[in-house]
Amino acid sequence: MAVRDILIIGDPVLTRTSEPVDEITADIVRLARDMVETVHAAPGVGLAAPQVGVSKRLIVVDLSVGEDKDSLHVLINPEIVSKEGEAVCEEGCLSVPDIKEKVARPYRVVARGLDIEGRTVEIEGEDLLARALCHEVDHLDGILFVDKLSPLKRALIRKKLKKNLAAAKKA
Ligand SMILES: [Zn+2]
Repeated sequence: MAVRDILIIGDPVLTRTSEPVDEITADIVRLARDMVETVHAAPGVGLAAPQVGVSKRLIVVDLSVGEDKDSLHVLINPEIVSKEGEAVCEEGCLSVPDIKEKVARPYRVVARGLDIEGRTVEIEGEDLLARALCHEVDHLDGILFVDKLSPLKRALIRKKLKKNLAAAKKA
C-alpha cells in the first residue's frame, strides 16, 4: 500500500468525467487500498480516484477517518439512486486546500455501487454521510464543491488560492 499524491484544483484530471470500472483487476484493488491509506493519512473523510490522478469511477468514504472499520465504504461505479431533503453545511475538499464554504446537499441519499469483491451494495446515508457520498460522486463527473457556489464566491476563492500558492512558494 502507498499514500498517493492528491491533485489540487487547477489540474485538468479533476474536471474530467471518469470512466466506469469494467473489471475489478489487481490494479483496481491496489488503487482502492492506496486511496484508503491516502484519505486516512491526509486526513480526510472521502476521496475519489480522479483526486489521485486516475479517471476511474471509484470512491472511498470514511467519516471515522480510520477509527471504525464499519464506517469505511469503498464504492466502485457509485450512483446516487435516491435523495431526500436538503441540508446546508460547511464543506471542504482535499483538492481545494484551506477553503471551506457552505454547500446545499440532499439530507438523505442512497448510493449504489460495487464493493471491492464485485458485490452490489447500497449505502444509506444521512447528513454528513449523504454529503460525503454526493461530494465524491460529483468528483467522478469532474465537479468540485466550489463549482456549486456563486460566481462571486468562486472569484474570491480563486484569489485566495492564488495567494496561498504564492505564500507556499515563498516558504
Ligand atoms: Zn473533494
